[in-house]
Amino acid sequence: MKIIPLSIPTPFYVGDVNVYLIPHDPVTLIDVGPKTKAAETALREGLGRHGFKFSDIERIVLTHSHEDHCGLTKRIRDEALNADVFIHEWETGHLFGRLAKDEHRALLLRSGVPDKVFDDMQTLYEEISLLTDSLAEGEYSSLVDDTELEFDVGALRVIHTPGHTPGSCSFVREADRTLICGDCVLKRITPNPIVSPDPIDPTRRYPSLSEYLVSLARIRSFAPTLVHGGHGEAVTDFEEIFQRYLRAINDRQSRVLSLVTPGGVTAFEVAQRLFPDSFGHEVHRFLAISEAIAHLDLASAERKIEVEVSAGVEVYKR
Ligand SMILES: [Zn+2]
Ligand SMILES: [Zn+2]
Repeated sequence: MKIIPLSIPTPFYVGDVNVYLIPHDPVTLIDVGPKTKAAETALREGLGRHGFKFSDIERIVLTHSHEDHCGLTKRIRDEALNADVFIHEWETGHLFGRLAKDEHRALLLRSGVPDKVFDDMQTLYEEISLLTDSLAEGEYSSLVDDTELEFDVGALRVIHTPGHTPGSCSFVREADRTLICGDCVLKRITPNPIVSPDPIDPTRRYPSLSEYLVSLARIRSFAPTLVHGGHGEAVTDFEEIFQRYLRAINDRQSRVLSLVTPGGVTAFEVAQRLFPDSFGHEVHRFLAISEAIAHLDLASAERKIEVEVSAGVEVYKR
């Protein structure tokens, strides 16, 4: 089974996104790129180099619902006369432009993010939502953990690898232990566990960092020989990346713990101290806040710190 990476430009700081063409029966794309003119042109050209058009795509499989990965889904599906679309059902809260704004707002305000800062983020949410088209209920099917996506020449096994988002999925070609991992494994950067409402109970936060650690261990259990990520080049030495991620997460965890004082701090205050340079830029600020929340949630789940709710805001104490 061939897996052909195509590099597609995005307007995000992360740079190009990788989408994967599997040129067998059914002709499948794993991720599609954002809904921009540049991405659409690059995808048409990339497919064309291998003899395919949008109308030839029979199946679209999405690793997760971030706009840089899923934005062109509807455009392709319309041209391909209803290609099947697959995504994990836990991505639907955020799926295709329906960013769960109210739930995000509640989670961020509880983390001590001031109203004014949240309101400034609205522009960001609105700009990002333009990078994808909505799909209606019934226009996609659920990816289910430990099932197979079949092709005439073999299969890819679906593994649910939450953390970066609650419904992130990876795909394994077991014959040679090759994986496609979306943003779960990236060569040059440690993936960010994005703050998300829990898909089962949206009034709670999804424990993204704890789940991410479990997902990394699960990926490791396949002893991958090659990992195709959502950005950057493929990983040929997963063990090295795995150890590097664990070191980075442990270092960050120690740093976060050192910022928790006996008097108490909010996640927003920790984020400001952790990444003082990130606060001038909306996307970076959101990622900084996500990172602080993820680490504080992990530390409190492990009982290293206490959390108290005061006037609707969570305060962490030593
Ligand atoms: Zn992502
Ligand atoms: Zn991404």
